[in-house]
Amino acid sequence: MDMDAPMRYRIGFGTDLHRLRKGEGIRLGGMTIPCGLSCDADSDGDVLVHALVDALLGSLALGDIGERFPADKVRRGEDSRVFLAQARSLVLAAGARVINVDSVIHLEQPNLKNWKNGIRRSLAEVLDLPPANIGVKAKTAEGLGPIGEGLAVGAQAAVLVELDEDA
Ligand code: MG
Repeated sequence: MDMDAPMRYRIGFGTDLHRLRKGEGIRLGGMTIPCGLSCDADSDGDVLVHALVDALLGSLALGDIGERFPADKVRRGEDSRVFLAQARSLVLAAGARVINVDSVIHLEQPNLKNWKNGIRRSLAEVLDLPPANIGVKAKTAEGLGPIGEGLAVGAQAAVLVELDEDA
């Protein structure tokens, strides 16, 4: 196998963690989950979207979310889907397309069972993908660590992208 040959498929991976405080809802995948908590963050604190932005950028070694969208230029409460749309545009501009996404949200409460499909559809809209190509899973931390104690919410995301033949 010629290891110097250009690879047609690339994976990307991203992760994020935000502190929780009292509030009126947690933003996840572009949806607001109503509860007594919200994220302490620049922007809207959407950990799932932030992890996904890093996964998209990482797939083609295009840097990370902090380089592309520096904290001092981000408005408090800003909709993170804007960053996701821009990260997707960067991937497209580099001659690749997104094939699928998989992700995990780490949150002790509220239970996301009834929200996961909505989050998939929300991400599908921004990424222009069928919801069937977007996996969203949710886990608690069984009371352990900052996530388990309800002090933080985290997310991990992986993407697969395909480079054009001539990219
Ligand atoms: Mg973040």
